[in-house]
Amino acid sequence: MYRIRLFGDPVLRKKSSPVTSFGEDLKRVAEKMIETMYHYDGVGLAAPQVGISKRIFVMDVGNGPIVVVNPEILEMSEEKEVMEEGCLSFPEVFENVERSKWIKVRYQTISGETVEEYLEGYAARVFQHEYDHLEGILLIDRMSPARRMLLRKKLMDIVKVSRR
Ligand code: ZN
Repeated sequence: MYRIRLFGDPVLRKKSSPVTSFGEDLKRVAEKMIETMYHYDGVGLAAPQVGISKRIFVMDVGNGPIVVVNPEILEMSEEKEVMEEGCLSFPEVFENVERSKWIKVRYQTISGETVEEYLEGYAARVFQHEYDHLEGILLIDRMSPARRMLLRKKLMDIVKVSRR
């Protein structure tokens, strides 16, 4: 299992680099990420959150685990939806975030095959959240400045823990 990197850890702010080899190493990383996600009751976990600056994330929105490698978001609906989100890198922070209702995505599977599909509802939401991580974008960037101010104390506490 991996240790979760918390807000304040610089790896969370780096743009991740593409995955180029689809061998046993990648499989092991994905398995360990899935194990870590379940351990912490997450619905998604991106590689930077475990200190790996690569374009891979795992998610499970109720149909079993999916490994997403080198994702692209090809289309995003103009229609938005607000829903409460959490993030394993922000313990005990839950915020309403507005995101596209549906998206068209392209990504590679763990064995390197390319998949293109439309996602909607919760799957679209989790995909967009995890995709953000690969770009170094975090939950707090999706909040209003006013909300960030209100959460300042909580965020500072997380930063302190992240530096231990
Ligand atoms: Zn997150």
